[in-house]
Amino acid sequence: MVYTQFCTGIIKSHQSDDAKYANMTAILDGTIGISQVDEQLDDFADVKTRLRSIQQHIRSVSRQSPLVCKVCTTICREPTIHQGHGSSGCPRVLNKCFKCFGRHAKGACTNPLFKVAPKYCWKCWMPLAEFFGISFHSSDIGPNCDNAALDYVKQLLLAYFYDRNLATMECPATTLIEYQDWLFKDSGISVSGSGQVPNMLLLLESFILRFEV
Ligand SMILES: [Zn+2]
Ligand SMILES: [Zn+2]
Ligand SMILES: [Zn+2]
Repeated sequence: MVYTQFCTGIIKSHQSDDAKYANMTAILDGTIGISQVDEQLDDFADVKTRLRSIQQHIRSVSRQSPLVCKVCTTICREPTIHQGHGSSGCPRVLNKCFKCFGRHAKGACTNPLFKVAPKYCWKCWMPLAEFFGISFHSSDIGPNCDNAALDYVKQLLLAYFYDRNLATMECPATTLIEYQDWLFKDSGISVSGSGQVPNMLLLLESFILRFEV
């Protein structure tokens, strides 16, 4: 009975088929105990909870009035309004360029574009692939994107490049090229012991958790 219960847990989990097979055969031949599998499933549930709370935060910020600056609302944890509309008057992104991420006024850019990695939406910058069964993007990508993260995530990532105190996560990148590479790369270490997710998602989580730790 207990065995059946754990096998069902393994089958329903979002591990790869090979991993599910390996876990079940490992229990059968006694290589690992049921309690170890239980621990792995707990880790898996934990990473899903973490990713889901990023998704929920983005949705809840997007429901704020369009007058609210979503960047400062996330950082200050309360609806913040600047003179102007949304994040247009935000001091955290003022005189910074959304095209190249450089420090100059809008319209003065002659630099190459800051490149969004393949498999990310070039409009809202969110990943198109699911992570641990959690999706951050609908099927409308590029020009048709109306993702909740629009006009918000990109600004946060830009503000963080110039002010590392905005989030608790550390980033080794000092140049824009390094930052471009780091943002979309996998975390390098496993998240909740379950697998890797891109640094940009961990950075978003770090913004959200900033005042909760
Ligand atoms: Zn602001
Ligand atoms: Zn520029
Ligand atoms: Zn998008």
